[in-house]
Amino acid sequence: SKRGRIDTFIAKHQQIPKKSVRNMIVQGEIMIDGQLVMSPDEQIDEFSFIVCQGQVLQQRQAVYWMLHKPQGVVSATMDKQHQTAVDLLVGIDKDLLHIAGRLDLNSTGLLLITNDAKWSQALMSPDNKVTKRYLVTLANPIDEDYIKVFAEGMWFEYEGITTAPAKLEILSPIQAMVELNEGKYHQIKRMFGRFQNPVIGLHRIAIGDIKLDTDLQPGQYRQLTKTEVLSII
Ligand code: URA
Repeated sequence: SKRGRIDTFIAKHQQIPKKSVRNMIVQGEIMIDGQLVMSPDEQIDEFSFIVCQGQVLQQRQAVYWMLHKPQGVVSATMDKQHQTAVDLLVGIDKDLLHIAGRLDLNSTGLLLITNDAKWSQALMSPDNKVTKRYLVTLANPIDEDYIKVFAEGMWFEYEGITTAPAKLEILSPIQAMVELNEGKYHQIKRMFGRFQNPVIGLHRIAIGDIKLDTDLQPGQYRQLTKTEVLSII
């Protein structure tokens, strides 16, 4: 995230030399989160509330959105060809917004969007093993044998890794629930690909304890609750 020194921030923002910033600090003219700055090397980040000579220089709320991603929308902030997930959020400040855990173009369901890089890093960190749950629709009938293979892991030649144990639950001849604690490129499609069984629908229903709100139609979104935000860390 954007951590740094207060004197660097003020000098850049106000286009003044750091020496002038030090004078302001001595004069008691700079505050971070309501506290007087005592030293030019005090640390700030993108959510620090910064006041300089009575003027607010930075005031940013951390925001967390859940979007029901429709098909054909890209998990990105900008794209030349397709509409993006962030384009769907109307009338909100898009500064620093990014996607925490992408979905393929044709996948649907829970997408998390935030401006809080520390939070999204915690969510995506392999160390935290946050469980992602997907409802998968296949072209051909699912065989019971898949369960063991998903649980044992598969060798992915390209990355040179074996997938972590994954849970596969058969819901109907062509529908399954899959739980992953990681997210390799096109992982679910590739895992079913081993059985020559194409994925024709992939819908994410949960990331950790955050479940896609069933009231949200594709393209709709809402802010996360405090409980949902805190469930990640
Ligand atoms: N696995 C995939 O293949 N695609 C996704 O979008 C998510 C998981």
